[in-house]
Amino acid sequence: METNMLIGSSFEAGTEIEELVLNPRTGETILRMPEANGNQIDRAVAAARAGFATWSRTTPAERSEKLLAIADAVDANSEELAQLEALNCGKPINEVRNEEVGAVADCFRYFAGAVRNMHGPLAGEYMEGHTSMIRRDPIGVVASIAPWNYPMMMMAWKLAPALAGGNTVVLKPSEQTPLTALKLAQILSGILPEGVVNVIVGQGASVGNTLINHPGVDMISITGDIATGKKVLVAAANTVKRTHLELGGKAPVIVYDDADLDRVVEGLKAFGYYNAGQDCTAACRIYAGRKIYDKLVGDLSGAVSSIVYDNADDTLNEIPPLISQRQRDRVASFVQRAADQSHMEIATGGALHDGPGFYYQPTVIAGAQQTDEIVQREVFGPVVSVTPFGDDDDVIGWANDSQYGLASSVWTTDIGKAMDASSRLNYGCTWVNTHFMLVNEMPHGGLKQSGYGKDMSMFALEDYTAVRHVMIAH
Ligand code: NAD
Repeated sequence: METNMLIGSSFEAGTEIEELVLNPRTGETILRMPEANGNQIDRAVAAARAGFATWSRTTPAERSEKLLAIADAVDANSEELAQLEALNCGKPINEVRNEEVGAVADCFRYFAGAVRNMHGPLAGEYMEGHTSMIRRDPIGVVASIAPWNYPMMMMAWKLAPALAGGNTVVLKPSEQTPLTALKLAQILSGILPEGVVNVIVGQGASVGNTLINHPGVDMISITGDIATGKKVLVAAANTVKRTHLELGGKAPVIVYDDADLDRVVEGLKAFGYYNAGQDCTAACRIYAGRKIYDKLVGDLSGAVSSIVYDNADDTLNEIPPLISQRQRDRVASFVQRAADQSHMEIATGGALHDGPGFYYQPTVIAGAQQTDEIVQREVFGPVVSVTPFGDDDDVIGWANDSQYGLASSVWTTDIGKAMDASSRLNYGCTWVNTHFMLVNEMPHGGLKQSGYGKDMSMFALEDYTAVRHVMIAH
């Protein structure tokens, strides 16, 4: 197992406080990881700056070739990467094998192609005797800060567009989930020139905070909590760094009376509980039309109570435990506060798992109202609330009544209703009769306090490059 950080071309251990890296399925310690010291952070930024001088001058074709080589190396190491991610996050191994490693490789392949196909406005004489043209140039050194829910995939989402655009990167994975990042660092060091990618480990308050405030960093890209995003904005203000913020979500799911209920229940079971709901797009805030409300609650509770999550044979598990005891206790306290209110009913679940590991029972809370905490705040756990609605305008208002603006979905057999709702929802994404589906060709990112800037797609490549105007007098 790789435990060393990548700084320039050197692999080295941190020297500061040790973080316990845990196995969420058992609560046992996998290893102790010392975090980077100040000198190591400085050298990682300096290595990225030195690497930028040559990497930023490579052609799109040259960068594309490297990204394709990374994708091939991810494929070649897919089983080891899957095992590490499953160990560190407690994810069912088949989920990582089937859903996540391939998506990581595809992300690098997409940006390998995209960077050779960037377009812009036409060059021309917009002032007599002068020719104008638009360039898109790299920004510089990007500090990329990743969360623990999809460590490997978030690393790909951050690295691939940044590198394709000609930037260099200092990446800090979550202190709770550094294992696949350190393995990928090994892989990347064999493919990319020195300094183009550096990986350092440590806590947000120490290593992360030093990195985002570093004068040698030009852009900060973070996926994390709203509170962390605000700290990034404060840090960025000091030196006017560019920022890219992917913060949380509380996805509304509107189920109209005419929806195909079997499809809805199957979808919610999958998309509300995938990764134990530790997903910023999780289908967690259901609004159900009054006519189908009772049946939806009954059928969904039955389906959710059948989710397999603590089987000794991991190949049978459908969802993981929570990432940590702290996260598990946080989820439990949300459910307890909901259960304490008489108008809500815990239709299924609602208890800690009896045994080792950070498991929490998949839970459905019925009878939730718009102002309830469980409807307003991100739980980031296997907990879905259901709220009945009777009026089509009310439900759009309720869906939009949130500090978040990342993802939403609408379930109906009426295409006009679906189009109307989609046009009125203030979310970065609206799915119709599905939820949670992502493709590298399409953007992912939020509105409101979910942040701004897009991951995936051409729009990410735009975020990681700067528009420049060159004007030539004749
Ligand atoms: P977090 O904000 O606690 O941590 C995210 C990363 O930021 C970690 O690497 C952490 O070490 C670092 N960090 C924390 N404080 C920092 C500071 N002061 N300075 C610099 N770095 C700091 O979030 P988390 O608990 O790891 O992840 C869960 C959150 O991320 C949830 O709110 C979730 O919704 C959000 N998330 C959003 C998306 C999205 O695409 N919008 C995707 C995944 C997760």
